[in-house]
Amino acid sequence: MKFPIDRFDSLKTPFYYYDLELLRRTIAEAARCADDPRFHIHYALKANANPLVLAPIREAGWGIDCVSGNEVKAAVENGFAPASIVFAGVGKSDDEINYALSAGIGCFNVESLPELEVISALASARGVTATVALRVNPNIDAHTHRYITTGLNENKFGIDLRHLDEVVDRALALPAIALSGLHFHIGSQLTDMEPYRMLCLKINELQEHFAGRGITFDSINVGGGLGIDYNDPDAHPVPDFKAYFDIFRDNLKLGDSQQLHFELGRSVVAQCGSLISRVLYVKHGVEKQFAIIDAGMSDLLRPALYGAHHKIENISNPELPVETYDVVGPICESSDVFGTDEHLPRLQRGSLVALRSAGAYGETMASRYNLRDLPGSVV
Ligand SMILES: *Cc1c(COP(=O)(O)O)cnc(C)c1O
Repeated sequence: MKFPIDRFDSLKTPFYYYDLELLRRTIAEAARCADDPRFHIHYALKANANPLVLAPIREAGWGIDCVSGNEVKAAVENGFAPASIVFAGVGKSDDEINYALSAGIGCFNVESLPELEVISALASARGVTATVALRVNPNIDAHTHRYITTGLNENKFGIDLRHLDEVVDRALALPAIALSGLHFHIGSQLTDMEPYRMLCLKINELQEHFAGRGITFDSINVGGGLGIDYNDPDAHPVPDFKAYFDIFRDNLKLGDSQQLHFELGRSVVAQCGSLISRVLYVKHGVEKQFAIIDAGMSDLLRPALYGAHHKIENISNPELPVETYDVVGPICESSDVFGTDEHLPRLQRGSLVALRSAGAYGETMASRYNLRDLPGSVV
């Protein structure tokens, strides 16, 4: 990626830099591969809620996937049609449910029987009907980091298969509930397509089971989770959307007029973003050389939270001879480390570094820990 270094020099670091041209290219490629009248993409807002990033997504006509009331609000404020909003989450509060009902969102992705009862009661009280999909925990191993796998029995998400019949029956019986279908989301940063194929087979099985009981669904929602290449972002700036959508096209049996919904987050926005930071100090330790940068885990939490690694580049002096550094942030936590034994062109005080592939779960996870300022953003 080419960075506008001259422009960066006068800016306060750290900040997120978004390449909107790459974002538009990514959106266009996803739309091309999902070109089927039955397919609908809802962008997962929690990956990145920056209005400048949301604009091209809205222009593409996509819907939104939310996991909090404030996300529903942000989607509405950023011009997304309420009917295109789906709302998941294991712990929706009454206030959040009431807000979503008043906004007229398209669908609640319901994760438990007690939640279903509460949505029905709150919708009844307002004299409206809530459209819901039941989030099913299909007990499929996504083979990803244990903090981002969501579709196993041991995870807190969704309704387990043993209770599904009972919850479907209840949804069909409740007065203020319109059951539209089943929802799944098995995990994040999936680079192997096999778990998605397993998911398709499981959904086929479930649909057959319910058809046998005379129950059919208007929609199926398969969630998100498509991974990206963190190691070599320039080799794979756009994820393999064709392989992803083809898995569902080839393996999922959709009924007549049945709609298929997707919730893509990371795969849409990760590669267009980088966290730009400045080297504060180069410190020589006993056996190590530390590059202390002005970005920390408060700006980009993924390394500290998941042990994730973002490719680090010296964008000021890529021509200098390579040295070895531990690249660390300024925060008072030993986990505030972005890379150990990184081979980078020589760094000095003031050098700009880019932490690549930071467009997803970067800015939205930023905090004010240590009372630091929130990172800025530039496009
Ligand atoms: C986070 C989330 C997504 C998006 O996941 P990605 O891995 O970013 O594609 C989709 N659906 C639900 C319910 C989520 O919680």
